[in-house]
Amino acid sequence: MKKSIFDKPFTQQEPIPRRAINMAVNVLKTGRLHRYNTIEGQLSETALLEKEYAVWQKSKYCLATTSGGTALQIALRAVGVKAGAKVLTNAFTLAPVPGAISAVGGIPILIETTRDLTLDFDHLLKTIKTSKAKFMLISHMRGHLSDMESLMTILSKNKICLIEDCAHTMGASWNGKKSGNFGSIACFSTQTYKHINSGEGGFITTNDKKLIASAILLSGSYMLYNKHLSAPNESEFKKLKFLMPNCSSRMDNLRASILRPQLKKIISNQKRWNIRHDYFKNKLSKIDGIYVPSRPLKESYVGSSFQFLVSENWSRNMIERFIKKVKKRGVELKWFGDLEPKGYTSRHESWKYFPSHKLKATSKVMHQLIDMRIPLTFSLKDCRIIYKIIQEEFLIEFKKLS
Ligand SMILES: *Cc1c(COP(=O)(O)O)cnc(C)c1O
Repeated sequence: MKKSIFDKPFTQQEPIPRRAINMAVNVLKTGRLHRYNTIEGQLSETALLEKEYAVWQKSKYCLATTSGGTALQIALRAVGVKAGAKVLTNAFTLAPVPGAISAVGGIPILIETTRDLTLDFDHLLKTIKTSKAKFMLISHMRGHLSDMESLMTILSKNKICLIEDCAHTMGASWNGKKSGNFGSIACFSTQTYKHINSGEGGFITTNDKKLIASAILLSGSYMLYNKHLSAPNESEFKKLKFLMPNCSSRMDNLRASILRPQLKKIISNQKRWNIRHDYFKNKLSKIDGIYVPSRPLKESYVGSSFQFLVSENWSRNMIERFIKKVKKRGVELKWFGDLEPKGYTSRHESWKYFPSHKLKATSKVMHQLIDMRIPLTFSLKDCRIIYKIIQEEFLIEFKKLS
């Protein structure tokens, strides 16, 4: 029998909506691309986007930035992370997270990850005691939310300030509360592979007027903070304006204009993503030898990517062969156990710019962890072909074990 082949790229997002293209053209025609380049009485696309995102997110304030990574750096500075400050974060995350902590002079302190890809609370409690860290940057990695109520209890008991990295959870919620609304401040990304697409871009949201005023000043407001719609009173800025370095990380009106229409699609896209994600979850979790991370009932996720674990007794060779064989048939799986980062799958042993950690549990999970992007350009029929290819090649390797 001839083996089926899949021939669509795993990196192909949907086109930018028609309305967004029209809005972008209108901005281009004015030449006024800089967010503060407005005429008397005019509101910029960026200021409007911030106001609309704050409403959508149910947060009081929002600031748009050049990227998710710069949003993280500004949020860390805004809450007061200074050189040498310890910042707790999950060991299983992507490189911009420890990168942001290091960029502002902080020291990442890594917390073990469970096989459900959430924080190991026992290890967190121990590490809070030994490190005495006062900050935590949680990355809701690959859209998996930790038990947020338990986390907030632990953090408030220990007076630890929480920053949420919601790059993979825009639109997700825990027990009815939106991801990003648990900590003091939250960061989002609008980079092409996230849930809305402006090429590059990011948001900061918070309910705290001092934090948003700090963030606006840090983003490089040239004292034009009165052009923001999603901002506190002038008095808040007056207290801070000579204390915040300008980190030039402003979003521009061109990107803002293509994001505004996309906000209206987050919920419908979540449904489309989850139909695809849940198809893989239901099918793959029935295969002997595959573990699909459990998703608690309190979690409402956005399934823009899919993860599964192979058994721990699979050797590096077996996993590499499996990945190579599905790849030959057009299916792009990423392996977090690879010794060297390939694309986005960097693991904590590769971040050599801060003191290394011995994390046995996380290393074991990373060895087993396979990741797949699910672009919305894939139909359900595509998903069925992809599943068949994974299943067939998995079984060939799996049979060699027995
Ligand atoms: C993409 C991403 C970021 C940073 O976003 P950029 O917009 O690419 O800077 C941060 N954290 C996680 C987990 C991400 O996946």
